[in-house]
Amino acid sequence: MTAEQLVLAGGGHSHALVLRRWAMHPKLRPPGPITLINRQSTALYSGMVPGLLAGHYTQNDITIDLRRLTDQSGVGLVIADITGVDASQHLLRVIGRPPIKFERLSLNVGSESITTTSDLQSKEVEQSIAIKPLEESLAWLEQQDSQAVLANPAPFTVIGAGLAGVEIALALRRRWPKRQLQLQANPGQPDQALRKALRANKVKLIPTGLQLVGPCLLCTGSQAPAWLAASDLPVDRVGRVMTKDTLQVIGHPDLFAVGDCGVIKTAPRPPSGVWAVKAAKPLAENLERCSRNLPPRAWRPQRHALQLIGGQTSGEMSTAWAVWGNLIVGPHPWLWNWKQIIDRRFMALFKKLSTMNRVVEDGNATLIACRGCAAKLGAQSLNLALQQAGLKDTNGHAEDAAFITTTANGQSLLQSVDGFPALISDPWLNGRLTTMHACSDLWASGADVISAQAVITLPAVPAHHQQELLAQTLDGIQSALKPQGAALIGGHTLEARNLAPKPSSLGMQVTLCVNGSLPMDQPHWQKSGLQAGDVLLMSRAIGSGVLFAAAMEGKTQPQDLDAALEQMATSQAPLLTPLRALGKKGEPSSPIHACTDITGFGLLGHLSEMLSASNTHQQGLGLPPLRLTIDVEAIPHLAGAMQLLETGFASTLAPENRRAWQWLDPGANGKAPIELKFKDVVPGSAEHRGLLELIVDPQTCGPLLIACSSRIASELATNGPWHRVGIVDVSE
Ligand SMILES: Cc1cc2nc3c(=O)[nH]c(=O)nc-3n(C[C@H](O)[C@H](O)[C@H](O)COP(=O)(O)OP(=O)(O)OC[C@H]3O[C@@H](n4cnc5c(N)ncnc54)[C@H](O)[C@@H]3O)c2cc1C
Repeated sequence: MTAEQLVLAGGGHSHALVLRRWAMHPKLRPPGPITLINRQSTALYSGMVPGLLAGHYTQNDITIDLRRLTDQSGVGLVIADITGVDASQHLLRVIGRPPIKFERLSLNVGSESITTTSDLQSKEVEQSIAIKPLEESLAWLEQQDSQAVLANPAPFTVIGAGLAGVEIALALRRRWPKRQLQLQANPGQPDQALRKALRANKVKLIPTGLQLVGPCLLCTGSQAPAWLAASDLPVDRVGRVMTKDTLQVIGHPDLFAVGDCGVIKTAPRPPSGVWAVKAAKPLAENLERCSRNLPPRAWRPQRHALQLIGGQTSGEMSTAWAVWGNLIVGPHPWLWNWKQIIDRRFMALFKKLSTMNRVVEDGNATLIACRGCAAKLGAQSLNLALQQAGLKDTNGHAEDAAFITTTANGQSLLQSVDGFPALISDPWLNGRLTTMHACSDLWASGADVISAQAVITLPAVPAHHQQELLAQTLDGIQSALKPQGAALIGGHTLEARNLAPKPSSLGMQVTLCVNGSLPMDQPHWQKSGLQAGDVLLMSRAIGSGVLFAAAMEGKTQPQDLDAALEQMATSQAPLLTPLRALGKKGEPSSPIHACTDITGFGLLGHLSEMLSASNTHQQGLGLPPLRLTIDVEAIPHLAGAMQLLETGFASTLAPENRRAWQWLDPGANGKAPIELKFKDVVPGSAEHRGLLELIVDPQTCGPLLIACSSRIASELATNGPWHRVGIVDVSE
């Protein structure tokens, strides 16, 4: 067996089925590291797209969750746009990060619509979109819904009367019963039976060459992505990569190509989802055989494949045609029923994959521990250990970053350290996220990040795999540091002594020591600076802990995880400059009285740290203690987080964090140190329970939390991105 790095480029139908096979039968999976690279974390099943447009299905019904599929098959996932292959160097070029190395590559990137049509005038081009990529055209068609209900909307034209064009035109008729629809066809198109259906459904057939007015959807046939030909791979007339009958690219035994982007030179078949699906098994078997040093086997696809084309509606009844080569049968309702059964069965293959993320220890199923910042020790254990080691009292209340020294020119130097076991299987993005997370301690202190050192633990895998993981991680770290003007100035690597997980990228552990400086006259923001009358503001939403926890059980919606990752990967360094500028507008001292970042202990844990540190300070000055009132319903939360919390999902660190609920208990004066104010939420309701959980949800790359005067708070809340979440007042 050889442990090569296998890269699956594109999450098309074939790769999705290959991944499913390896999730179901892990022993078949090639032994080396495998990575899927796709533009999005999901893929759409094209066979059901017309049904989606016609209102038979929801987008969720036709979506394959690639993140979940890769998790379950022990494969890494990189969300990136591929721009080329360097077959001689074994590199795949992607946008925004270093090329990705492979030893074996399988291409399943589908096709693009042919968009060079002379029928389109520039005016109409602005209002037109190609059916592929599907994600973009579907979003555009949704926007067109508002036009369809106008009294006299411009006619909508589908350009191209192949099977897809006819099917889409009929689906749009069902979607927009009253809108003027037309289908532009080449002479002789489409088949008589389909023409009849178009007429019956009031879809006007128009010839090519007419001046078109109104929006147009191009269903003009497909071509393989141009970068395949530009990569010097052997391609046919429409850019499809030519392969042998083993699916290996001609002249490149380490490269495979299937689906719309590949064509077997000796057995060419038209681009269609059917062939992409049928190629999955021979592709998987040949990838498996090559990894075991066995010769790949030839695959001889049958001459024709049955296609079921849906869409004609008579009354409430839907029908479909069966197409076999040049033969068209139908339309008939039972063909539609048959098509629905086949399509739904295909999607069920992915939807019904078992939740395999529970590990069994001593016969009992337990949840896999959460990663990222949720892998931290709970506050109580940490504090007790610090006390035991004699560190708690000497330091008073730990700030986010430690003060090191003041330089000769009056700049304060600060330092912090943070890190965690890999949150995600993409080493580049994981490096970026860990760096953002570590830097956030310095940002919360008001400091600019100037340099960092990294300690990176790599999984025990062959050296060249470690090299690739390290190179990607280091680039991800730099992508977060460089825009801040900060440099990675050193570090160390270690090799883990436990067994590498699958994918091995999840065995990475990145820790960064970050150094920062405070500009002259810029005070070191501390947790202990709360003042009576202050307003509390958060820079962005929380809820990442539960989203990642539930994702391990396949319960997080892919788009919610995508949105969370996008927020987490966004630097908060740019927030500092406007906050500092506030100080120059006549405030006698720092306009930001206290600041922290919300991470492992959750919002409540970090609020309690702020309150406790500030009250120690108040006591020292002989001032009465402070208390906080939190407007819980105003706390910004990531999409999907509340729903998961309300249904009982939680991070594995949440039970430890729930100890902070004690701060909500009323004291001797009948007032709680931290009071939660609810406006519309009924106590005891699911939403109430969800909000209580939200405030103890551990965060990776969480928001900044600041306290400032109400005047400054109004300014910040108006200009954004700050959200007003509570106030500070005196307890007595
Ligand atoms: C409206 C419509 C209906 C159709 N209905 C049918 C049908 O009923 N039956 C049928 O057999 N065929 C049908 N087809 C044809 C079908 O869409 C394609 O043949 C099929 O999707 C090809 O599958 P694939 O696995 O090659 O790639 P795809 O399913 O297209 O998947 C390719 C994947 O690669 C990703 N990708 C592409 N480029 C990049 C890049 N540069 N970087 C990273 N990722 C990338 C994409 O995001 C996508 O996830 C239909 C087509 C259309 C437009």
